Amino acid sequence: MNSQDDKVKKLSDYKTPDYTVDSVYLTVELSDSKTKVWSKLDIKKKTKEMNAPIILDANSLTFISVKMDGKILDNNEYQVTENYLKILKGKDVCVLEIENYIDPASNKTLEGLYKSGDMFCTQNEPEGFRRITYYIDRPDVMATFTTKIIANKKLYPVLLSNGNLIEKGDLNKELHFAVWHDPFRKPSYLYALVAGDLGVIKGEYLTRSKRLIDLRIYCDKGNESRCHFALESLKKAMKWDEDTFGLEYDLDIFMIVAVDSFNMGAMENKGLNIFNSSLVLADAKTATDLQFQRIEGVVGHEYFHNYTGNRITCRDWFQLTLKEGLTVFRDQEFSSDMNFRGVQRIQDVEALRELQFPEDQGPTKHPIKPSSYIEINNFYTPTIYDKGSEVIRMVHTLLGKDGFRRGMDKYFELFDGQAVTTNDFIHAMSVANNNYDFSQFEQTWYHRAGTPKLEIKSSFDEGKGEFRIFIRQLLESNELPFHMPYRIGLVDESGCDLDIKKDFVEIKEKENEFVFKNIKRKPYLSLNRDFSAPVISLHEYSHLDSYSLFKLDSNPFSRYEIGRKIAANLVLDYLNNHDAVIPHDYIEAWKEVLMDKRVDPATKALLISMPSESYVHQLLEVVSYQEVFDGLNHVKKTLAQTHQNELMDLYEQLKDDEQYQFIPKQVGRRDLKSEVLSYLMSLEDNNIFAKCYEDFENAKNMTDEYMTFHLLVHSNSNKRPMAIEKFYNRWSKDNLVLMKWLSAQASSPHADTLDRLNKIIASTDYDKTVPNMIRAIHRTFGRNYIHFHHPSGLGYKFIADAIIDIDTFNPSMSSALSKLFGDFKRVPAENRVIMGKEIYRISKIPKISKNTYEIISKILS
Ligand SMILES: [Zn+2]
Repeated sequence: MNSQDDKVKKLSDYKTPDYTVDSVYLTVELSDSKTKVWSKLDIKKKTKEMNAPIILDANSLTFISVKMDGKILDNNEYQVTENYLKILKGKDVCVLEIENYIDPASNKTLEGLYKSGDMFCTQNEPEGFRRITYYIDRPDVMATFTTKIIANKKLYPVLLSNGNLIEKGDLNKELHFAVWHDPFRKPSYLYALVAGDLGVIKGEYLTRSKRLIDLRIYCDKGNESRCHFALESLKKAMKWDEDTFGLEYDLDIFMIVAVDSFNMGAMENKGLNIFNSSLVLADAKTATDLQFQRIEGVVGHEYFHNYTGNRITCRDWFQLTLKEGLTVFRDQEFSSDMNFRGVQRIQDVEALRELQFPEDQGPTKHPIKPSSYIEINNFYTPTIYDKGSEVIRMVHTLLGKDGFRRGMDKYFELFDGQAVTTNDFIHAMSVANNNYDFSQFEQTWYHRAGTPKLEIKSSFDEGKGEFRIFIRQLLESNELPFHMPYRIGLVDESGCDLDIKKDFVEIKEKENEFVFKNIKRKPYLSLNRDFSAPVISLHEYSHLDSYSLFKLDSNPFSRYEIGRKIAANLVLDYLNNHDAVIPHDYIEAWKEVLMDKRVDPATKALLISMPSESYVHQLLEVVSYQEVFDGLNHVKKTLAQTHQNELMDLYEQLKDDEQYQFIPKQVGRRDLKSEVLSYLMSLEDNNIFAKCYEDFENAKNMTDEYMTFHLLVHSNSNKRPMAIEKFYNRWSKDNLVLMKWLSAQASSPHADTLDRLNKIIASTDYDKTVPNMIRAIHRTFGRNYIHFHHPSGLGYKFIADAIIDIDTFNPSMSSALSKLFGDFKRVPAENRVIMGKEIYRISKIPKISKNTYEIISKILS
């Protein structure tokens, strides 16, 4: 591997830029392989240094010419390389005019300006703008942008950019143009341009100050009818941000464009959001509840960025969590208000633990504010986003709802229109709340990687009526302890919470003790309610206490959590001894939860579910993947065998003929129906297989259709091949539904999984330049642990082959896949040898991208 360590960027090296750009006027004449860009930049010096050169970033540009203040510069007045254009002598104030060509059609990195199908579109975060033109491409350079787009009228009737449309017209018979102006200063990463022959749906939103905003969602023609849910979600998000944070939309128009080839989920470009089509298009026939839920959340997320990200942006990319952690927190709160709060919280924590906790335990772990990187694209991680959101949530808990709102108001009062740091955010929160002391909080949570662990003990003195809780932080010898809110509950035998005044304790010391008085009987201890701190809580419960909490705890998250722990411990017992008996008391407690009429179906679906494989892996030093898989199945099957009749009755009760709607009540019922059927399917009974197939054939919406299809593909039923064929014949022409067909197979434990995937990859259905397809096949397969880690090594080879191929044209995708090898140090010894060979093979890619290099070198180090 060629060393690229000299390219490490460090937070400590941050320097304000020598020059900034006040305004940008771009003219872009679109053509597939030779798009011409004229850029006029009003430049201002910020440094005191005389004659400092002006350095403009570049990537894959063809230079034509540069003028300064109207005069064409001679060769000896500038330098141009692959990575920059350097004007040797700058001025205090000047106008640069630069001309260059780009080649969007052959740009498969999907960064900068590129083609998705017949459409031109852009992705500029973090450093894509330098693939469009020469520019000081860093977030602390904020300018106003005006764009004139020129294109063929017939091929590209729709021409869009940021801001408001100020002019449009024809240039001649063939060409037309549009001029967009964005009055808000922004960094170049928020710049966007779209051109195509697009379908559109339109809507309106009246803001609280009675401004009428034009709302539009653009998509491929024919998909218009599938955009309505996204439009409604957008209106809800606009209203929610006004009601919750007093933030009102600021331009006259807000547009979303759905694009098929997109590396990310969605992008918050000012006034012109660009979305992966999978996060826009949905109707009952083609999308599942989960997709509707994701669309609502992501539409909200990108919209909320208009203030937290766009109006106030990051000073540099080390501050990424400033906008992402805060905006994820905002979208989670939005979703909680739109759906069942308790259920939403469990799902958000589950996502954190599935993706972020393993990252925190593995070779690519980093704090939410990293201090160095080689490729910033590698840091769009669950840590920056989801753990970042948990850190904001702790600020919210410590200050309370009103205190947090005061802090947000102060944040906008102090920093609107600026590029700032996480310290600035914490400063605003502090000064708005009597100078609340966040110093210990900030030093630990922002700068330390890894998931904190708490060891918790309790004691009860009946004579004194005192209940004591001891909480010890497990730290390295000299480490500063974390500061966190930790929510607890004391639960009596009937499931009622004892009154303990404040519902959370503040942990600041290495060793903490909390005493609760006037307690008459020993209560059950409910820990880290609502997952108030993103930590691992270590507490030894007696079996009976844990079963009681599983049956009684009033806090949905803690009740769910204790259920996970019990089931995971049974799997660990199984790993030690395959004949270990599953306690009768647990089997009965599980049944009580299943039959509990007080619990809503959505919560119940979560409570009765088994922990994921990854949850159990995190409890082990060395992971035997097949054994964990078998252990989970063993527990699940035992529960299903014992309670088959109850499960069957419940399944039949949960069916009904209601017209499909994405409303929490219906979603909960479908979730529970799906969970119950998955228990029944674990019995491998031919009658149940037949029932599942019948329900698959009769399904009236995609949630029911995909749920039954998925279970059949994951089973040994003789109906399986028929289901796979039938689903394909029905949906192969629909790109987004085809992805579901692929991921159901890629995640299947069935023995033929890899053969099937290899056949798919050799077929005409496969297009490696579409990231959604790589995600559906390769990323899904990488989390299909028993196959990915199969002792034959074929799973590792399958992913390594893909990485080596994809790295030649889309480094963002190949480095994302490289993270699948993150378990390298935890796989059994025999796997380590074969996995090591594949990682080594990747490291030897002759022109390895710095994206993949950074990940692979961390895994190997
Ligand atoms: Zn975001």
